[in-house]
Formats: sequence, C-alpha cells, structure tokens
Amino acid sequence: QLPIIYVVTPTYERPHQRAELTRLSQTLLLVPALHWILVEDSLKRSPLVADLLAQSGLHYTHLNVQTPPPMKLKEGEPNWLKPRGVEQRNEALRWLRVNQSPMDRGVVYFADDDNTYSVNIFKEMRHTQKVSVWPVGLVGGLRYEGPLVDKGRVVGFHTAWKTHRPFPIDMAGFAVSLTLLLMHPEARFDPNAERGFLESSLLGQLVSVEDLEPRADNCTKIWVWHTRTEKPKLKQEEALEKLGRGSDP
Ligand code: UDP
Ligand code: MN
Repeated sequence: QLPIIYVVTPTYERPHQRAELTRLSQTLLLVPALHWILVEDSLKRSPLVADLLAQSGLHYTHLNVQTPPPMKLKEGEPNWLKPRGVEQRNEALRWLRVNQSPMDRGVVYFADDDNTYSVNIFKEMRHTQKVSVWPVGLVGGLRYEGPLVDKGRVVGFHTAWKTHRPFPIDMAGFAVSLTLLLMHPEARFDPNAERGFLESSLLGQLVSVEDLEPRADNCTKIWVWHTRTEKPKLKQEEALEKLGRGSDP
C-alpha cells in the first residue's frame, strides 16, 4: 500500500487557466496513488474547473476560497507585491485535517498550476518522514536553487536571493508528511509573511534544517522547474467584438 501523495494546487480564472490545468492534470495522471486537491481562488467553484476535474481520471477534491480583496493582486501590479495562493493552500490544510486521520500514510506537496514537473519528483517525495527537499530550476534569479548536502544531510543552501531566509526553498522544492501536519494542527502559511518568507512561515513550525530529508540524488537533479506562462495577448478580441464577431468564450 503506497502512501498517498496529496497534491495541493491553488488556481484562479484567466484565459489560459484551462491550458495550465490540462498540462498539470495529465502529468498527475502518470503518478499512482495520488489525490489532487485543487483550490480555486473564487467565491464559487466554477463549472470549468468542475468539468475538467470530473473528466480528468484523477482522484480529486475541489475546493474554493477567495483571497480577501485587499490581499489580491490587481491588474498591472507587479506579482511580487503580494503573496499568491496562500489562503487556498491553507484551505487545503484545513480540509486534510478534517478529512484524514494520523493513521493515513501520506505526503503533501504544494504544486502551483504553472510549474513543470517530472514524474521523478513524485517518486522522490512519496516516502517522507517529516519534510523532504530537492532543488527547483529557474527560480531565485538562478538556474536553480537547492539544498547543499553533506553525508546525506542538508548543511546549507545554494541561493542568492534573501539568503537570510530560514528555509530558502521554493514552494515546489519540498513535501511534508501528512502525519507531521496532523501533529501540528496550527501550522499553516502566514498570509502576512514578508516576501520570500512564505515557505519558511510553514516549515519553521514543523522542522529545523537538520531534519530535512534530501532527495533527487542528494539534491543533484532538477526534476521540477518554476516555469511561468506568458500572459496571452488577446488584443484582437476587442476589435472583433466591435464587429460582433468576437470568439465564443
Ligand atoms: N494564484 C491564485 N490567485 C491569484 C494568483 C495566483 O490562486 O490571484 C495561484 C496560481 O494559479 C498558482 C499559485 O497561486 O497556482 C502561485 O501563483 P503564481 O504562479 O502566479 O506565482 P509565481 O509563480 O509568480 O510565484
Ligand atoms: Mn508560478
């Protein structure tokens, strides 16, 4: 009986949302014993996401919680101004605590909808005692950020940005044992964490650096990338709409 991988994904409506979720869901289909917790940043669960999940072939839970409007990034604001997906990840933690028992063996991974995942990374995280870690490509202004490993232990981090972060690890660079999360019922992401400190705000409540379990060949392999999708240009839609021939939404 494999421990279940609970993949937590915040998502929000935009023209390429279906494209992102299609790519991610078809990656997740390659992984056995996986449960996708997809959390919409919205007041209501949307039919688009509900249909995509129903047809995905995955085990899933569909949740929603709206980021409070003052915390929400506005059109044109630089994306680093406010944290994204925080309330949604916390909602998934709440769901897991209500719906799972410490007897269930599992691991929780926070997988944003725009990153690129190798199936290898899921094999690495499945057997996690407390918190497993690995490098993430294309993040922190570097080709990769990742833990430095000596004799099987994490002894530091390859990072250049805000190097004083307690855990300079991207959201995609760690997984947490479900048991550990249930043992710390108050542990969650801090919506008011300083920029770059969101991951540390959760991990600091659960482990210390010495506890981290290095994966991906002692953190020498890149099996997840912090890719980002270019905003689609839909300028011509306005022109066509004026002529009454806009694309069917
Ligand atoms: N997200 C969200 N609401 C928003 C913006 C982003 O739920 O208003 C989700 C998004 O779909 C992604 C995660 O939060 O899964 C992280 O957002 P993003 O990829 O934009 O962050 P970045 O890669 O720039 O750190
Ligand atoms: Mn992203």
